[in-house]
Amino acid sequence: GKNDDSKRRATKGASQLPLLPLRDIIVFPHMVVPLFVGREKSVTALERAMAGDKMLVLAAQQRAKTNDPVPEEIFPVGTVGQIIQMLRLPDGTVKVLVEGKGRTRITRYVETDACFVVENAPLAEDEGEAAVAGEPDPELEALLRQVHQTFETYVKLNKRIPPEMLISVQTIEQPSRLADTIAGALALKLGDKQTLLEETRATARLTRLLELMQSEIEVLQVEKKIRSRVKKQMEKTQKEYYLNEQMQAIQKELGEKDDYQAELAELEDQTRKKKMSEDAREKTFKEIKKLKMMSPMSAEATVVRNYIDWMLSLPWYDYAEERYDLVEAERILEEDHWGLEKVKERILEHLAVQSITEELRGPILCLVGPPGVGKTSLARSIAKSLNRPFARISLGGVRDEAEIRGHRKTYVGAMPGKILQALRKVDKGNPLLLLDEIDKMSQDFRGDPSSALLEVLDPEQNNTFSDHYLEVDYDLSKTMFLTTANTLHTIPRPLLDRMEIISLEGYTESEKFHIAKKYLVPKQLKMHGLKDRKVTFADLTLRQIIRYYTREAGVRSLERQLANVCRKVAKVLIKEQAITDAKSSKSTKDTPVIRALKPGGKGFAVSPKKLVELLGAHRYKFGKMEDENEIGLTNGMAYTDVGGDMLVVEATVVPGRGKFTVTGQLGDVMKESCSAAMSYVRSRGPLFGLDKDYFANVDVHIHVPEGAIPKDGPSAGCALTTSIVSAITRIPVKRTVAMTGEITLRGRVLAIGGLKEKTLAAHRGGIRTIICPKENEKDLKDIPKEVMKDLRFILVDHVDQVLVNAMDIKNAKELFKARGERGQGLRAQYSGQTAQAPH
Ligand code: ADP
Repeated sequence: GKNDDSKRRATKGASQLPLLPLRDIIVFPHMVVPLFVGREKSVTALERAMAGDKMLVLAAQQRAKTNDPVPEEIFPVGTVGQIIQMLRLPDGTVKVLVEGKGRTRITRYVETDACFVVENAPLAEDEGEAAVAGEPDPELEALLRQVHQTFETYVKLNKRIPPEMLISVQTIEQPSRLADTIAGALALKLGDKQTLLEETRATARLTRLLELMQSEIEVLQVEKKIRSRVKKQMEKTQKEYYLNEQMQAIQKELGEKDDYQAELAELEDQTRKKKMSEDAREKTFKEIKKLKMMSPMSAEATVVRNYIDWMLSLPWYDYAEERYDLVEAERILEEDHWGLEKVKERILEHLAVQSITEELRGPILCLVGPPGVGKTSLARSIAKSLNRPFARISLGGVRDEAEIRGHRKTYVGAMPGKILQALRKVDKGNPLLLLDEIDKMSQDFRGDPSSALLEVLDPEQNNTFSDHYLEVDYDLSKTMFLTTANTLHTIPRPLLDRMEIISLEGYTESEKFHIAKKYLVPKQLKMHGLKDRKVTFADLTLRQIIRYYTREAGVRSLERQLANVCRKVAKVLIKEQAITDAKSSKSTKDTPVIRALKPGGKGFAVSPKKLVELLGAHRYKFGKMEDENEIGLTNGMAYTDVGGDMLVVEATVVPGRGKFTVTGQLGDVMKESCSAAMSYVRSRGPLFGLDKDYFANVDVHIHVPEGAIPKDGPSAGCALTTSIVSAITRIPVKRTVAMTGEITLRGRVLAIGGLKEKTLAAHRGGIRTIICPKENEKDLKDIPKEVMKDLRFILVDHVDQVLVNAMDIKNAKELFKARGERGQGLRAQYSGQTAQAPH
């Protein structure tokens, strides 16, 4: 009743009421607020109100700080309020509980001295036309709903508003009341609140509130996000701090902490002093700094530690003193190697050019030849003569670029590539690095190692070589490179272009003999501790080892066999020593060897007779062609990666339907040679006395047991033809003859490559006669004299000449017959009679 009463009065028109100026607060209608009143004028105003019907005007001061405001400093729009309760506190201030009743505008100040009394007129609420008419208004409906929702979100985010507030707000349906209640609850700026109070249209107030709440919500959300992030960060740093403290405490307990600090300081000191590029130094310091932050036991720290170790242990600019003294170089090369005159000369020329230019600008030397011919050993001597440290990098089977260039640091177990590994090993910035077996490098999906190598070998680029692991450039320009290969044809062209080729073809028997006598035997005796034991090898022993226990272009297995002999002798020696030590030498039965090796003994000569005892039965036959000449079996000659080799070609002819089979490990080139040989024989059939339909009734089978893949294209045509013709004619082929040469379909013999290597191999195999293309005559001068004197060369330009010389016949007539003459004989043979060479 009282409520309605006051409203009525407010609408009735102007009234006079005491005014309570408010600091920093706006009282909205429907709000119940406690106020603490202290100012004398305000207390008087309250007393006046209490004396009347407890009503008064509540209006805010424009500035809260003003103590004694004049009317101009008070907002003209305020709220009519009713005092619900009033309490005097002992300190003279008064606490009142007031309830906002309705908006009002101050029209005039009636009294300003003892307290403010104002004439005021109520401001009518505008609820909206529809609401007044009681009609549904969807727009208002939507607005209300949104205000409710937004307020709910707001309350959830803002902890200052008690949740009960939400419940009471939810029940309010009247737009103006809703707006005022929410406005009272929100923490808004005074100006904003005043504006809301002055607005009489409820929808406008609600819209404004919505805006204010939404922007507030945004702020609150961001705040919340920041808060949680800060909290997380705090937790993390706290955790780290805590753990670090704990770790340090543990380390202190263990007394390790100081060691570790000292170690880090030592690393820094080393980094400062190390001769390295500035980039590298900077990078190393950075990593040390990283290391300081890490727990020394962590996996990460190990990785960083490893990296720093690498940086500090690479030689960078630490160089050995080089020497370019050609006389000395020649002396060293001579001292370490027998023969190889041309090779030594080429090497010295190369060194001479370098010593003049004093730069490693020229091409890279590449020593090409079969295994065991002394390539590595020559490289070692070159290094020695230049006083450069030596390291060998094997490229055989390298297919991953990372093996040259290293793996990135992030990779588990990462390391720099082979180049830097070798440099670390030699510990000097100017070594001679031997890139071994550059021809055995291949490429696959992991990248092309040859392109990385190209950068290594290019003097224009290699002063800034980039290894993935190191991450900073490394200067390779003072490093001398040398390469070796067994063969040239698998080396990528761009690499080949960077190199100067020096070929080593392999040794003759007599060269091997001298190398063994002068170098290998003394070396092995020394290695086995037999130097002073009067162990000697007879010349014939050495020759027999070469002939019967090795078959190679180089001297590697020769050296191995010599080592075998030495080991066996040394074993006997140790036995003997043990016996002497036991002082029971008299009672034991000394073997002749022990007796000879004993102090005062006559020494131990490794005689040919003892070889079988020491090395076992002969492994190879030499010169002795104990086998009979055979039908269909021809000695071809191959030129392979490991030098020359013999290539035995086999052919058989059996009754059949004209089939032609080729088996064995053959390359495409060899298969083509087979077809060409077969075509030639077919076309010449009548000349060998065969029937016209001879080939329709036989199957020809060719087999190449050791399919040595030729490295320079075809050269087996002659041997294949000879085998086929031998099989057809049943005439055996001479076992002491070997041949090489490709043929055309019409039987012309074409030139081949590698005659020297092939000849050396055939000579090793005990061959006496070699048939080769006439076009290769010019190559004969390269063949060593002592080999030449054992051999007879037959130069041919047509395959018929080959046949006449290779077949076991007295004259050509035995081979070439009238048509059909031989066909009969053959048919007779295969129809049950014993096989016999025809006449
Ligand atoms: P490669 O590198 O060509 O396979 P190595 O250099 O390993 O061959 O040589 C094998 C062995 O033969 C080494 O002990 C080497 O000293 C020796 N050797 C090769 N050729 C000669 C030579 N001309 N004089 C002296 N020793 C040689």
